[in-house]
Amino acid sequence: KVRRDRQVQTLAFKPEMDVALERRRTLETELFKAIVRDELHMVYQPLVKLADQSIFGVEALLRWDHRELGPISPAEFVPIAEENGYIVELGAWALNRGMKEALSWSSPLRLSVNISAIQLSRGNLIATVQEALHRTSFPAERLDLEITESLFIDDSLDLEFHMRELKSIGCSFSLDDFGTGYSSLGYIPKYPFSKIKLDRSFVRQSISNEQDIAVIEAVMHLAKGYRMAVVVEGIENPDQASKLKELGCQLGQGFLFGRPMSAVNLSTLLSNAA
Ligand code: C2E
Ligand code: MG
Ligand code: MG
Ligand code: MG
Repeated sequence: KVRRDRQVQTLAFKPEMDVALERRRTLETELFKAIVRDELHMVYQPLVKLADQSIFGVEALLRWDHRELGPISPAEFVPIAEENGYIVELGAWALNRGMKEALSWSSPLRLSVNISAIQLSRGNLIATVQEALHRTSFPAERLDLEITESLFIDDSLDLEFHMRELKSIGCSFSLDDFGTGYSSLGYIPKYPFSKIKLDRSFVRQSISNEQDIAVIEAVMHLAKGYRMAVVVEGIENPDQASKLKELGCQLGQGFLFGRPMSAVNLSTLLSNAA
């Protein structure tokens, strides 16, 4: 009986798995053509000071609008590109486009660009960043590179060397999605981070959960000890914002302050604010 049940289950799940695999294969092939077909663009989400909601920087986020399949989330295509190495090209494209567009804005905002482990280990990121800075004349002091916490589990990537090199030319670093990895905290001071971005899973709804509050307070304490700033991600409502302010958080990001938007729309927002 057990065997029969299992067989039935296998049959029932197989078509779905095929569909998922098929989509993955399609996306993989199509992604290689995305740059030349001009299907990629960047959107920018404000990073604000919670005290007055003023914008001090933006995070650049990659978007892919396939001509037939429509918009495809980076949460879906970035992992594919990481697996086949194409993230090196995509990442270089994102850096260049981000810096170029950021220079067209009326205020000198900081620009945060997400960087994948693969770019650090295989992509010669130092040269890529230097070239992009040179080509666009974007000031290195305004460039921030976001690296996701889960990378720091793998010590073999030689992240420290790459980061120190980039820091020496003026770039800064943020530790992204903090709290979602499962590494010990001991690695943090080894790397030259200036900011910790607390993952949005800690600010659900109204932040009334005592455990979430304890984590937020602990992270702020930790960051203070290391002289790092904390940016809280995923702030969607005024209750969250005021609670975070009460807890002493200074910087935030989320739909409440602004959705990711095109360079032109950000430009308009900045001139209206001025
Ligand atoms: P991330 O770096 O943690 O970026 C923040 C994500 O949270 C973005 O999703 C943003 O749209 C979303 N978000 C911001 N505020 C809120 C909010 O208030 N509520 C909710 N529910 N979500 C919010 P997005 O743009 O879909 O990007 C997903 C992930 O894809 C990014 O997470 C990042 O890991 C990756 N990614 C995006 N662009 C790039 C890129 O150029 N290079 C690399 N390597 N990864 C990228
Ligand atoms: Mg990020
Ligand atoms: Mg993040
Ligand atoms: Mg995240």
